[in-house]
This record gives sequence, C-alpha cells and structure tokens, in this order.
Amino acid sequence: MVPDPETPACSAKGCRAAALWVLAWNNPKLHTPERRKTWLACEEHREHLSQFLGVRGFLKDVVRFEEWEASEGA
Ligand SMILES: [Zn+2]
Repeated sequence: MVPDPETPACSAKGCRAAALWVLAWNNPKLHTPERRKTWLACEEHREHLSQFLGVRGFLKDVVRFEEWEASEGA
C-alpha cells in the first residue's frame, strides 16, 4: 500500500495505517486543563492507545477523525 501524504497516519509505533480516530488527551502536570494534545489511531490501535492514556488518567475524548476535523474547522 502506497502511503498517502494527505491521510494522516496512526501514532502507534511502527504503524503506517491511516488514522481513523483522534484521541484527545491532557497531562495535568504539563498542560493547562483546557489544552488538548492529540494522538491519531487506526482501528487496530485505538484500544491500545486509549488504554495507555486511560490508565494514566490523561484520556479526555475519542472521536472519529472526520468528526474531529469537522469540529476543528468550525
Ligand atoms: Zn495503528
């Protein structure tokens, strides 16, 4: 599969799959409460990355990539 530069890739290490999900997170030690960092995830890594952030209490939201784009553009 040829990587498409228009399609952002999953944030998981070594994964080149297209991102389908946006994980919005915040580390209260580093970020102000309204600040959102984002990770991108493919279908396969959504669970893994959500858990990684979830156990640390960083995970705020998991949104479909199209929805995230739409709400960011608004
Ligand atoms: Zn992935």
